[in-house]
Order: sequence, then structure tokens, then C-alpha cells
Amino acid sequence: MTKNSGVSIDKTLFDWPSDSPHLKGSKCSDCEAVTFPTQDGCPRCCGTNMEKIPLNTKGTLWSWTVQGFLPKSPPYAGPETLENFKPYGVGYIELDGQVRVESRLTESDPEKLEIGMPMELVFHKFIEDEEGNDVIAFAFAPIDGE
Ligand SMILES: [Zn+2]
Repeated sequence: MTKNSGVSIDKTLFDWPSDSPHLKGSKCSDCEAVTFPTQDGCPRCCGTNMEKIPLNTKGTLWSWTVQGFLPKSPPYAGPETLENFKPYGVGYIELDGQVRVESRLTESDPEKLEIGMPMELVFHKFIEDEEGNDVIAFAFAPIDGE
């Protein structure tokens, strides 16, 4: 997969293709609260001076679990069926100084997941749409060697 092909699974979450892919958040100009996804109103002070910002691509694992069974469909629209389903990690990543983001994790082995470990944003092909385009989703991966 190159950064020049595929389409974002949800353009309100991130743009794809992109030279510097990142999640889109918003930040309150009054109290500096950061949200993901973007919001028009501040959840902390109820202000409406929300500015769109790129979220950090690195953070730490705040909480996690392993999804051990196929999620309900709809709304779930992943590539797995009951026959080929593999458990996957899901968690909250605390982006440095910003906000906690719920995300799939690339790691599903409980032995290799630890609260507080450094994580970074990655993008991967999730499914193919009817026209044969790669639909790109995001996940967080442990940063090796830290
Ligand atoms: Zn605010």
C-alpha cells in the first residue's frame, strides 16, 4: 500500500491520501479542551469557539482489551466473517497532551500490551469498496524498541 492510493473510511476522521496523515480533532479556544472526532461545541465549557487541529500521531496506551468475538453487523462492516474472525486489540490511546482516542490496535496478544506503553498511529487497508478501491482505516501500533 502506498500513501497515494485508497480512500479514507471516514473523511471526518482523517484525510487519505495525505502527505502527513493524522487524525482530525478540534480544540476549544476558550478552555483548550481537545476532542476527537471534531465537534462544534466544547464538551468542557460549552463554548463554540472550536478550532480544527491535527492530532498528535503518538501517545501512550491508556486502557485496552481484546475483542474476542465478531462485533454485531450492522454497524460493524469489517472484513471478518465468523469463519475467519481473529481476535483483535482495542484500546484508548492518550495522545500526548491532547485527548484519548478509541482505536483498534495492531497487537492482539495480551502478553504484548501494557498500559502506558508508547503507541503510534498507523493506517491500513480495511476493506475494498464496490469499485475496488482500498478503504483505509486507522489503528495504533506499539512503537518497537522503546
Ligand atoms: Zn471549552
